[in-house]
Amino acid sequence: MTDFTKTRQQFHLPEGLIYLDGNSLGPMPVCAQAAAKRVIAEEWSKMLIGGWNKAGWMHLPMQLGDRIGRLIGAPAGSVVTGDTLSIKVYQALASALELNPDRKTVLSDNGNFPTDLYMADGLLKSLNGGHQLKVVDPEAVESHIDETIAVVMLTEVDYRSGRLHDMAAITGKAHSAGAVMIWDLAHSAGALPVDLAASNAEFAIGCTYKYLNGGPGAPAFIYVRPDLADKVRPALSGWLGHEAPFAFDLDYRPGAGVERMRVGTPPVIQMAVLDAALGVWDGVDMADIRTRSIELSQRFIELVEAGTDKAQLASPRDPAARGSQVSFRFAEGYAAMQALIAQNVVGDFRAPDIMRFGFCPLYNTLEDVAQAAGILCEIIETGSWDKPEFRKRQAVT
Ligand SMILES: *Cc1c(COP(=O)(O)O)cnc(C)c1O
Repeated sequence: MTDFTKTRQQFHLPEGLIYLDGNSLGPMPVCAQAAAKRVIAEEWSKMLIGGWNKAGWMHLPMQLGDRIGRLIGAPAGSVVTGDTLSIKVYQALASALELNPDRKTVLSDNGNFPTDLYMADGLLKSLNGGHQLKVVDPEAVESHIDETIAVVMLTEVDYRSGRLHDMAAITGKAHSAGAVMIWDLAHSAGALPVDLAASNAEFAIGCTYKYLNGGPGAPAFIYVRPDLADKVRPALSGWLGHEAPFAFDLDYRPGAGVERMRVGTPPVIQMAVLDAALGVWDGVDMADIRTRSIELSQRFIELVEAGTDKAQLASPRDPAARGSQVSFRFAEGYAAMQALIAQNVVGDFRAPDIMRFGFCPLYNTLEDVAQAAGILCEIIETGSWDKPEFRKRQAVT
């Protein structure tokens, strides 16, 4: 059984703050500070260029990939970290399209995070090969999978509503129609159990600054199914994905396996922090995470619905159809969220009217949930959100 009292102690949470936004940016694990200090003060400052060999910096992308792989059901050697998730979307889609050269349609849904759709659109335009991006309602994805679809590209958990796609069923449907499957696990990795190997999907991608707590700007990851990892062509053929980067050949030859999905110099300081943050997961069972996450989110829904009828549940009511977040619709959701944050309860807002709350069993407790729900209901019921300072829009919502 995972000891959640112990995991909570491993996070630095400001006194009195209830943090329900780890689905956007995970809080700082206590060990992150020492890890950043070590890499700067002991490695960079003392070893300089020697750090690449002596401190093992060059191997961090694969090592971190293996640590993440354990949390998403991917075998060792099938995941590599680097770049940002937007870049990994591009890489996965470019390679996926080449596996299905006779088909021209990429299928996604309108619950996907916009950058995934933007990156797909940009890639398809650059390919200039008559490709199209077909974006349908999440519920209609399965019925649109047919022999014209080259690639199905979806995010498992909807960033706004928390709605969960059925990974095994959709992947099965895609494969029976001859389509390649890409899963974005941005809101899945560290949020709920994922069995990537069992799904048989060709590609998966995700980020590490949400539920994996790697810090702002932490690197993304990409998974390529092991039987394909030596076959796919990396579209972003950077030198660190080359078979022999330090041969400095003028011709590109892809490296072995998923390591070919590396592009350029890894962000070593950020990776050292992520490595430390992933240590928090040692001894954590994803099944326990799921059980507790459902307990937290169910309690939140019950308490909010008991306290106000002015906000409407925007997430699936069935916990099995939801990731690790809950959203409520409220017309003045932006101002209400600012009022909530002013009372030390942090969630976030997604246009046009979604108040979003992430639940992370590693550090959120049932007491957090009860307090947060109480304050939220009071703000909504009394209208205390209705102040000019709460309506003022910031760059990041
Ligand atoms: C958070 C998120 C992103 C963010 O992409 P970055 O390149 O890391 O900024 C992309 N896709 C999805 C589905 C996300 O949830």
